Amino acid sequence: MPIIASNFKTNHTRKSTSLFIEKLNNYLQSNDIKDEVYVFPTSTSLDSFNTVSNLLLGVQNAYPAKNGSFTGEIGLEQLEEFDIKTILIGHSERRHILGETQEEIAKKYEFYKNLGFRIIYCIGEPLEIKNAGLEKTLEYIYEQFIDIDTNYSNLILAYEPVWAIGTGVTATNDDIGSVHKAIKEKINKPLLYGGSVKVENVKEICKIENVDGALIGTASWKIEDFIKIIENTK
Ligand code: 13P
Repeated sequence: MPIIASNFKTNHTRKSTSLFIEKLNNYLQSNDIKDEVYVFPTSTSLDSFNTVSNLLLGVQNAYPAKNGSFTGEIGLEQLEEFDIKTILIGHSERRHILGETQEEIAKKYEFYKNLGFRIIYCIGEPLEIKNAGLEKTLEYIYEQFIDIDTNYSNLILAYEPVWAIGTGVTATNDDIGSVHKAIKEKINKPLLYGGSVKVENVKEICKIENVDGALIGTASWKIEDFIKIIENTK
């Protein structure tokens, strides 16, 4: 079964996740699914999600420090409290909306790598680069690997074209296929696709060569749809 990961971004409350959690827990247990389904909830829901069996629970972000004076951030000490060992790094929204630089991203990567965290590392190009062609797209993507140790054993990659995120415009199978092939030839790690993955297209996307699963935002926020997505890839 492919890897299926849900990124909640800044959505859901503890209250609105309670039914999600109950249904996901029942579903994962009764279907004996292990090691394939990830959820990256908001930090305020980590505690509640910790009750779900067979779920790989991760954080959308954390600061590269155990603790300290970094207002607004959470660090290793807080992650340890929830037994979190999985982190999303380099997401497009952190790069482009929150202004994280490659240098900051690489520092975060190094810190959590040295602690043995499972890292889902995101890469992807904006529309003007996509429009400039495959060569430019790959050039842009490779710059997102500057100072990133791609030999790290606990690394999963996620190709998420910026223009496909939250837009309803999914990359074509050909686009996904050619970018994934090129990345895989350079870095042989599990590689997810993300960007407007839906109940209707997840099966086809996961069948494309060199696609090892999907990282999903919008379509994963309703538990019924998230379960359908998992079912559709089995
Ligand atoms: P959407 O599925 O809403 O396009 O978001 C993708 C994403 O950013 C997952 O990390």
